[in-house]
Amino acid sequence: MKRLREILKIATNNVVGIPAAPGMVIGRAHIFHKELITVSDDPIDNVDEALGYFRDAVEKSKKELHKIFLLAKEKMGEERAEIFSAQLMILDDPVLLNQIEVKIKYEKKLPEFIVQREMNIFLEMMRHSTDSYFRERANDIDDIKNRIIRNLQKKRLQSKVTPGVIIVSESLTPADTLLFAKWDAKAFVTDRGGLTSHAAILARSLDIPAIVGTHNGTHRINQDDLLIVDGFHGYVFVNPDEEQLRYFTEKIHKLQEINIELQELKDLPAETTDGRKISIFANVDVTGEIDLVLANNASGIGLFRTEQLIEETGEIPDEDEQRDVYYNLSTRVYPRPVTIRVFDIGGDKVKIFDFPEANPFLGLRGIRFLLDNTNIFKTQLRALLRANTNNNIHVMIPMVSTIEEVKETKRLIKECAHELKAEKKEFHKFSKLGVMIEIPSAAVMARKFAKESDFFSIGTNDLIQYLMAVDRGNDAVSKLYQEFHPAVLQTLEHIIQSAHEGGVDVSMCGEMAADNLAIPVLVGLGLTSISASPAAIHSLKRTIRSISYASAKELAEHCLAMNSSEDVTKAVADYFEKHAVPRTRTILKFF
Ligand code: PEP
Ligand code: MG
Repeated sequence: MKRLREILKIATNNVVGIPAAPGMVIGRAHIFHKELITVSDDPIDNVDEALGYFRDAVEKSKKELHKIFLLAKEKMGEERAEIFSAQLMILDDPVLLNQIEVKIKYEKKLPEFIVQREMNIFLEMMRHSTDSYFRERANDIDDIKNRIIRNLQKKRLQSKVTPGVIIVSESLTPADTLLFAKWDAKAFVTDRGGLTSHAAILARSLDIPAIVGTHNGTHRINQDDLLIVDGFHGYVFVNPDEEQLRYFTEKIHKLQEINIELQELKDLPAETTDGRKISIFANVDVTGEIDLVLANNASGIGLFRTEQLIEETGEIPDEDEQRDVYYNLSTRVYPRPVTIRVFDIGGDKVKIFDFPEANPFLGLRGIRFLLDNTNIFKTQLRALLRANTNNNIHVMIPMVSTIEEVKETKRLIKECAHELKAEKKEFHKFSKLGVMIEIPSAAVMARKFAKESDFFSIGTNDLIQYLMAVDRGNDAVSKLYQEFHPAVLQTLEHIIQSAHEGGVDVSMCGEMAADNLAIPVLVGLGLTSISASPAAIHSLKRTIRSISYASAKELAEHCLAMNSSEDVTKAVADYFEKHAVPRTRTILKFF
């Protein structure tokens, strides 16, 4: 976190925007100024000729878009290329085309003038929509409009640039993005644009770092300036000094190493040799890690620790600020889900009020603190309800020890929804509400909790600490912090079975899920979903792909009957030996 703060400080002298596609690059700037489109409302004499020009321009635009569609399909696959087939559909819209033709006929004005005016009406409606999806799609309409006008005016699109430059522009259309990608653009920096713009989505699909919404990028950056683009955090360092260059060159090198390893496994499923699929989600503490997650095909975000927001800034962000963070996060992982955990304040984590507690781990922590401070809790719940526009936010409650805590949370969620409705603020119910199973009472009563929640996420970091009565941060007793203690394994089995019986999803987001050595036992216990730090994903996948469910189940059954952690550890080591699975404990942190 400290490093992140340092970078932030450096970055204030430079250009800052929204990190829209991950990655870091160093390169020269190419300033791309869009041709200004001007149209006049000159009268025309020959209507038929004008209609002919208009139809030809539409046909030409269709052909261009079709070419772009094929290029997109080749670069990103059919599904992603749909953006362009949607644009093509607009060009086939009989209502719109007919309306333009009728106006040309009756008003007898230049077709480009009519095209601009009519499509602007449509555009404005979309720009003012309350739905962010439509607002972003307005850019696509703008692109089509300009394409038709350009073809009417017979101008050519300028998209050829020196290969390997960083494109700096006021804004980019999806087609610009794709065409520049053809010229091996290293990164994109734009003054305008949001995370959900198609240009941003494309940059992510094409794996080209992008920073959008910088406001002043084109003013602060000159042609051929040397730039460092940090697509994880949204910073552009303009003509960096030696220290910055050294720092980022090292980072880029490290990133490349991680990427090479991940690349080999990226598109392969996390599946055992006998076909059992395991979903791997990512735990995210720093927003910069999110795209590393996505670029490597995680199933989504399994844990976003929101208390980190307080740690980063030293204060609780207000409702709007929180809403923006959650919305941006959910948009970036969409259509995959993001599990956002409400503030786990207290214990050894961030503290809001300085009140003395003899045993903070057993004190006012997680949901206990939130139910005691409903103003803080309700602000967060309201922000989450307002952020769920994409319907992919799952909300999770930490430190649950009683059923009443879940019921009371549900009551507060309802209350917040009522308030938002009365205030006429847009909100969407949470897609799922789940609980962390990390306190023994919740583990024991898992069957009952299954009736009150949509999913469980097992927090082994705390579960082991409370089950073994050993402070997770105290070296003196660390020997007793045993993830392989049969009591831990039996408890895990009980939780997983209760979830299966109760028909709720169960995953694990504690560090045990990131431990390769634990994977065979966890798979054998019936777990089909885990969430771990992004950098651990590739090695977890490698382990999963080298074991069979049948052998893992046998191992788990064998371990459940053992007396000690030592016995289990030995059985696990033998298993790795026998099945020739690479034994690695990779916990790599990028930041
Ligand atoms: C856990 O307890 O396992 C967990 C994932 O939560 P945290 O480490 O944030 O307490
Ligand atoms: Mg915990």
